[in-house]
Parts: sequence; C-alpha cells; structure tokens
Amino acid sequence: MEKLKKYINEIKDFPKDGIVFKDLNPIYKEPKRWNELMLPLLNLISTTKPDYIAGIESRGFISASALAFKSGVGFIPIRKPNKLPGKVIGVNYKLEYGEDRLEIQKNSIQKDSKVIIVDDLLATGGTAAAAGKLVKEAGGNLIGYAFLVELTELRGRKKIESNLFVESLIKY
Ligand code: AMP
Repeated sequence: MEKLKKYINEIKDFPKDGIVFKDLNPIYKEPKRWNELMLPLLNLISTTKPDYIAGIESRGFISASALAFKSGVGFIPIRKPNKLPGKVIGVNYKLEYGEDRLEIQKNSIQKDSKVIIVDDLLATGGTAAAAGKLVKEAGGNLIGYAFLVELTELRGRKKIESNLFVESLIKY
C-alpha cells in the first residue's frame, strides 16, 4: 500500500489555504493500481458481510459504488443538501475546511440491516461521524467504516464510536 503513495498527488492550498489536498485520481485511472488498492476492502466486505455500503458524496461515491457493485451488496448514497428526492434525514457537521450538511433518504435502509460507510479519506472525522449518525437514524446497524486514506494526525478515529471497526489503507 505504501508504494501507492507515489500515485497520490498532493495539492497545496486546495480547496482552501492551509489544506494539502490528496488527489487519488491517478490511482482511479489505472485499473491495476485501483484494483491493488481496493482488494483489502473487497476482502473486508466478504468477511463482514454487510447488507449495504453507504457512500459519502462525492469522492466517496467512486470507491463505495465500485465496492458495492463488485461485492453484490446494495449501495446507499449519503449526499449534500437538497440532492435527494423525497423524505430525508439531515445532519450538520464540521469538516477540515468549513461546515457542511449531509442527508440520507428516510426509508432507504431496511431496519437493523448491516451497513459499512465508505469514503475516500478520513481527516478530522466530522464527515464520518455525521454519516454514521444518519445511517443509525435511518434504522441501519452500522458495523464499521472503510477509507482509502487516513490523515492520522487529525485523529478522526476518535470521533468514531469505539465498538465499530475503522479500516484505512494508506496512512499519512
Ligand atoms: P473530515 O470530515 O475532516 O474527516 O474530512 C473528510 C472529508 O473531506 C472526506 O470526504 C474527504 O473527501 C474530504 N477531505 C478532507 N481533507 C482532505 C484532504 N486533505 N484531501 C482530500 N480530501 C479531503
């Protein structure tokens, strides 16, 4: 996994001053690299057997939907405000750069079904914690999280409940 770091571009001051943005696009565009990166998560899904993978808009959709499709597991979108039709549940949260809100469709999860949340990157953990709240409010049995990248110094794991697993593939 460490050797894949050379395919992650670092863009300073994007999207705001002080942020070093991790750009994973060079990995996604090369099937061999993307496959190598995703394999541990495919294994995680086959051992933990979730009913759904919930992906967080928008970069989280890339890996979450690919994993769900390949694993034969349902995909649930967690989206920015006013994107989902029908009744939604929403939660406001802080992120590394600014504040935001996420929403999930109210009747999207069959009660007590097992859900794993997938996003591209864990930074401060605000996004992940908010997504977790939504999954639970929607009736899901949240079992854990999976990220492609973790910025360990920001201690995002601390925002996640200790009884859930947190898998991250590339750590900075
Ligand atoms: P946080 O809520 O602070 O854990 O931020 C995680 C979310 O923000 C993820 O959905 C990431 O896509 C995005 N994000 C935060 N920091 C970065 C970064 N340095 N590079 C790329 N994406 C980031």
